[in-house]
Amino acid sequence: MLSSSGLLFGGFQISLDDALSDLCFVSHAHSDHTAAFRKAGKTIIASEETFRIVGREPQPHPKIGGLSLFPAGHMLGARQLHAKLDGETFVYTGDFSLHDSYTAGSAPILSCDILMIDSTYCSPSMRLPQRGQVAEGIRRFVAGGEQSIIVFGAYQRGKSQELIALLNDECSVAPVVHEGIAKICEAYERCGVRLDYLQAGSEEAKEAMRHPFVAIMPPSKVSREFGSNLSAAFDRDVLTAVATGWAHISVFPVDKAFALSDHADFRDTMRYIYESGAKKIVCANSGSRAAALHLRRLGFNAIEKSELGAPQQTTLQECMAKK
Ligand SMILES: [Zn+2]
Repeated sequence: MLSSSGLLFGGFQISLDDALSDLCFVSHAHSDHTAAFRKAGKTIIASEETFRIVGREPQPHPKIGGLSLFPAGHMLGARQLHAKLDGETFVYTGDFSLHDSYTAGSAPILSCDILMIDSTYCSPSMRLPQRGQVAEGIRRFVAGGEQSIIVFGAYQRGKSQELIALLNDECSVAPVVHEGIAKICEAYERCGVRLDYLQAGSEEAKEAMRHPFVAIMPPSKVSREFGSNLSAAFDRDVLTAVATGWAHISVFPVDKAFALSDHADFRDTMRYIYESGAKKIVCANSGSRAAALHLRRLGFNAIEKSELGAPQQTTLQECMAKK
């Protein structure tokens, strides 16, 4: 049974990417999904990689029959939750992608009766370019600026590591990265993902920065104004860019914006919905209201997550007492 605080399953109330119950499923390590890690006393169901990326040692969680996790694409460690009980199946995709990336495999489409799906890009305006085209655009941009300093803005968790891997593989470039990005890279490497980068402030990075170089910083710090200041400081041309799916519909104050997305776009979200065979759709995360409305117009039985009813139980102790 689904409620506003999660899934009541096998006697357990399981929060889905929030912290409303004692037992919480965390689909991946982006901060808008990790509230459970920021609250004391929560038992967390997540991949080993997600634990490591948020800086925690993996911990065991109750073995729950009929409950399983599947890859979600999106970023290293992202998982979908699949629950089967009394012949009925439920899937929560979390943020997902149906395409392989440089640092994560694609998500399988899981058959189910009830599908709670990330609807961030479930809008007809979000038809993203193919990943290969975006990668080729970045490759050309970097090659064309080989006498310049190039600074990319990218989110620290997931997108920066994807961009580093792309720059390593497609451009043979080891970028200089902000300290916060390097910390997440270390977690990736502990999970077996090799990334070639230089941490800002290190002797290696200082040496590299005597020449034209490529850098990655948090997107909030990268702008044309920042580029001008950097150009004056280094006496060299500076090119600025961002790498985010939102570049498809938003304007950023940089020289070039690349729609490097780790989300399913509108077509892939609709493909998942059709191929899952779900009889009921629950739209979750940002854009859920508009997505549910759009799906209802198409004839789907769809609601947004906030329309789910109130929970019957809230604590793990209560759940365990009823078992
Ligand atoms: Zn995410």
